[in-house]
Amino acid sequence: MEARKVAIIGSGCAGLTAALYTARAGLQPLVIEGDESGGQLSLTTLVENFPGFVEGIQGPELIDNIRRQAERFGAEFRNGRVKRLWLERQPYRLELEEGELEASAVIIAAGARARWLGLESEQALIGHGVSSCATCDGFFFRGRDIIVVGGGDSAMEEAMFLTRFAQSVTLVHRRDQFRASLIMLQRAKENPKIRWITNAEIVEIRDVARQEVTSVVLQDTRSGKRREMPIAAVFLGIGHVPNTGFFGADLETDSDGYLVTRDYVFTRAPGVFACGDVQDRRYRQAITAAGSGCMAAIEAERYLQEHAGI
Ligand code: NAP
Repeated sequence: MEARKVAIIGSGCAGLTAALYTARAGLQPLVIEGDESGGQLSLTTLVENFPGFVEGIQGPELIDNIRRQAERFGAEFRNGRVKRLWLERQPYRLELEEGELEASAVIIAAGARARWLGLESEQALIGHGVSSCATCDGFFFRGRDIIVVGGGDSAMEEAMFLTRFAQSVTLVHRRDQFRASLIMLQRAKENPKIRWITNAEIVEIRDVARQEVTSVVLQDTRSGKRREMPIAAVFLGIGHVPNTGFFGADLETDSDGYLVTRDYVFTRAPGVFACGDVQDRRYRQAITAAGSGCMAAIEAERYLQEHAGI
């Protein structure tokens, strides 16, 4: 069976940074790219808060740069995802969509995906007025009217953040009870720029043909009545789903499925480290993902030095 010193699961900002560091340490890492090669950054447009880029950089370009930087030092990449990570014995075994491989150290950087509504029109307009990242895309809607969907803390946080740019933010929630913490809800309620539509769901986002958001169709969840509302952007704040379905009870996850780490990147399996959004429910930024990718790589290198016989 193919044997590697380091396998990295995921090719977003965290995984690629881990690849860069482990490659530069001469470990020839293999990156299993996952379903969404490049991770969430590859879905965004202009990234203005990654240090070092005065005028900002396009998300896909940033991710491509880190990838090529890692490749320059010998990182290798494989398409597809890990179906199962087996941790019963060393070396660990990764079952891929095609074939298997063994690795002495594993870095899990599988990321988290934004939860979407699941509408066809929503998927067609991602990056054209539909977004799941207020800090990434809010700036583009300066002076416009925008919608935030959701009733939890993420939605409150996004709505409050977006009032810095938007003329108005309308929070659309499917119930009239909120999951958000009282303090976040209160702060949002006190913000004069935030309007509220409860008991409503978006059933369509227009205008796919023009490749820009011009309006949404809202449906009242009680009466079923529909109406169209003009709007410039729709931000989803309905939660994230960490990609943790491919391992068993050897690794600990919290109640929302996030991989539990201690000392930043250590999982409870020796030689298995985790970085980026798969283990970070708090910051979820490209730069913090890159930072934890670096930490995971350094710890993997140390682990392999201390366990040279594996
Ligand atoms: P969440 O608490 O699970 O809330 C998700 C919200 O989205 C809920 O209001 C839910 O509606 C709604 N929703 C889910 N699927 C939907 C759909 N298909 N259509 C319409 N609405 C949908 O998620 P979260 O807000 O991301 O928070 C996750 C965790 O992170 C929480 O523990 C939260 O406290 C924490 N967090 C904390 C902060 C902070 O303290 N600064 C910031 C962000 C997140 P229902 O209520 O009807 O189910």
